[in-house]
Amino acid sequence: MTQPTFDPDRFSAALTRQWRRIGLQRAQEMTPDQWWHAVSGALAELLAGLPARPVAVAGQRHVNYLSMEFLIGRLTGNNLLNLGWYDGVNAVLAESGVALSAVLEQETDPALGNGGLGRLAACFLDAMATTGQAATGYGLNYQYGLFRQQFVDGAQHEQPDDWQREHYPWFRHNSALTVQVGLGGKVVTEQGVPVWQPAFRLQGEAWDLPVVGFRNGVTQPLRLWQAKHAHPFSLQRFNDGEFLRAEQTGIDAEKLTKVLYPNDNHQAGKKLRLMQQYFQCACTLADILRRHQQAGRSIETLPDYEVIQLNDTHPTLAIPELLRLLLDEHGLTWEAAWHITRRTFAYTNHTLMPEALECWSLRLVRTLLPRHMMIIETLNARLKALVSARWPGDDAVWSRLAVVHNQQVRMANLCVVSGFAVNGVAALHSRLVVEDLFPEYHALWPEKFHNVTNGITPRRWINQCNPALAALINKTLQRPWLNDLDALQDLAPLADDAAFRAEYRAIKQQNKLALTHWIREKTGIQVSPDALFDVQIKRLHEYKRQHLMLLHMIALWQTLVSDPQANLAPRVMLFGAKAAPGYALAKNIIYAINKVAATINNDPRVGDRLKIVFIPDYNVSVAERLIPAADLSEQISTAGKEASGTGNMKLALNGALTIGTLDGANVEIAEQVGDGNIFIFGHTVEQVSALKQAGYAPAVWRKKDAQLDRALTALEDGTFSDGDTCAFSALTDSLGALGGDPYLVLADFRHYLNAQQQVEALWADSEAWTRAAILNTARCGMFSADRAIRDYQQRIWQATR
Ligand SMILES: *Cc1c(COP(=O)(O)O)cnc(C)c1O
Repeated sequence: MTQPTFDPDRFSAALTRQWRRIGLQRAQEMTPDQWWHAVSGALAELLAGLPARPVAVAGQRHVNYLSMEFLIGRLTGNNLLNLGWYDGVNAVLAESGVALSAVLEQETDPALGNGGLGRLAACFLDAMATTGQAATGYGLNYQYGLFRQQFVDGAQHEQPDDWQREHYPWFRHNSALTVQVGLGGKVVTEQGVPVWQPAFRLQGEAWDLPVVGFRNGVTQPLRLWQAKHAHPFSLQRFNDGEFLRAEQTGIDAEKLTKVLYPNDNHQAGKKLRLMQQYFQCACTLADILRRHQQAGRSIETLPDYEVIQLNDTHPTLAIPELLRLLLDEHGLTWEAAWHITRRTFAYTNHTLMPEALECWSLRLVRTLLPRHMMIIETLNARLKALVSARWPGDDAVWSRLAVVHNQQVRMANLCVVSGFAVNGVAALHSRLVVEDLFPEYHALWPEKFHNVTNGITPRRWINQCNPALAALINKTLQRPWLNDLDALQDLAPLADDAAFRAEYRAIKQQNKLALTHWIREKTGIQVSPDALFDVQIKRLHEYKRQHLMLLHMIALWQTLVSDPQANLAPRVMLFGAKAAPGYALAKNIIYAINKVAATINNDPRVGDRLKIVFIPDYNVSVAERLIPAADLSEQISTAGKEASGTGNMKLALNGALTIGTLDGANVEIAEQVGDGNIFIFGHTVEQVSALKQAGYAPAVWRKKDAQLDRALTALEDGTFSDGDTCAFSALTDSLGALGGDPYLVLADFRHYLNAQQQVEALWADSEAWTRAAILNTARCGMFSADRAIRDYQQRIWQATR
């Protein structure tokens, strides 16, 4: 398939329709924001008018990618680059004296996700459209995305993110796809068969965003469901009191897709969240079955044509929903329905952490979904028969394998039991999924378990965010590489070419300079572009250990103050991170970083040798600015806790060297880039468990390390908080006897500082540093999302069953 050609006349005509529609006489009357709306609206119109070229590969199953989150980032610039229309549109706008780059800055960043999981879903949609995997993304159209973050005297404040207040031009609402969803009520038996009588019905409206493949003419939908009251209003139901009952139980359709839950790697167990999950699953299943039936196919052949990939357990209710439709609507037997279901679903696990493994109270599920709960109980009873045949009388095994246990429904177990594939998201993580999380399931069904290491789309994460580097690679390789990232290997020999190193280094320097200006504008802080840019950008979570970087920051400051001659590289420490609004410790860590930063940044003894910038409101657009300018990528989670990470891949690809633990995909990045080109430190997974087994006591580690003790003491004695000794007590308590330092910050502190000294040593030799940076770019081809999609195809979606 080929790139769709850009027709400047048709684009200009579409643009004219856009500004005429809003009642203007001339294009020049548009505000910058109106320009963005008009350009995007015109492109959306042209895109919709292109000949429909669905991916059609004989025998290939259609992928339905279900995710509660799609952190897509800005669309207009990305779609232009993927279409290959950027220069064409740029030229048309230039005729009106308007800069396309300035227009693109007007777009608000759709934040329909929390972090890595939602961003992965967005990268995968891009890669499926690019590699020619027929796919539909299914999610929710939240009216409010992830909150906007502000700092008030260093503390995080949350503002609502009313991102589509003035209508988002890329949306296409398809009213022919509206579906009805039931909730609550009861199950009655009619002629011996169970019939669900929901207390309440709502409507799901389909809002589609186009996912544009890279220069191949493919566009396929990301379909986001939005809840509405069921219409027409039924007087009968009103008189029956059903609407009032619904009001009393708090079911308000408009509320359902109002807001994204701001938790990352943590389940809160809220009823509205469960309703969101079911709503998404019910709308999606109805859509998939409609598509299947419209193609004239029998329901028995569903798994031959459709696969449903569950991005974590959030869309698990799709499983009992499919069973319900097959049993109650299609009248299949349990055996027939089960035979279809267990060949349709595949599940991606994203975490081993207990607080993030979803469990829902049986009572809540029964109240909202009485028929689904019956189905889950049946499934559980059948599982129990199977498990007791394999492990007769072993209650301990059953207590781990049960789907319903202690009045809770365990979503991960439901997924493993009901699907044909389970995958982790990096080699280490997939091993731990088998060994630590599901060993007995693995014994039962070893063939279900796979690894697919995550990936990122190079279209956004080089071509869009780092145009200068993309241009250098274009010039150097002289062949397509953005859809064949392994081609970057050919850059490796150039790491030894001084002229190439100079060009590569100049690009990094330009990117750093541009970031410097932006930081100045956003925060008022002046930083030197010649300093080492040391970057940690990701959600704020204890296991990610932003506070380990904080301790290093304090230690550096203390060294600079006590030894003004100290030979330390000038450093800018950059943070970007949101904390869930209810996560007090995470918020205290943000507060501590900001207060320490204020002290250090205003200390005349330090000057340019150390600056700290916490960029507020970290999101995809902020990531796109920071990543091309990063020298050092902080990936310092406790080993075994970060499933994969994808920020690590984006940064390495853009030539930041990683300082990291042997965790998640860091392990594979280390294998790819080679020993001298990454800084690995810290306890390994095995050493972490040994340490905990032996009774880890953080106080012991503090006592034997004077530098660590000094840094912690400064947090406790009011140095950074105007004498307030309690300002950071949530943080310091978590690292002491009270909290027990569950993520081994203290145990890894010394290793970390030693690794930072290696960083300093390499940084001192800028040729050697640049050589390592080039090798990072050259050797990260395997972290393309295209490779991840091909792995999914070969190992899971198209594997013969
Ligand atoms: C890539 C990305 C993430 C994931 O970062 P990790 O370091 O892998 O946790 C989170 N948020 C945004 C905005 C991203 O672009």
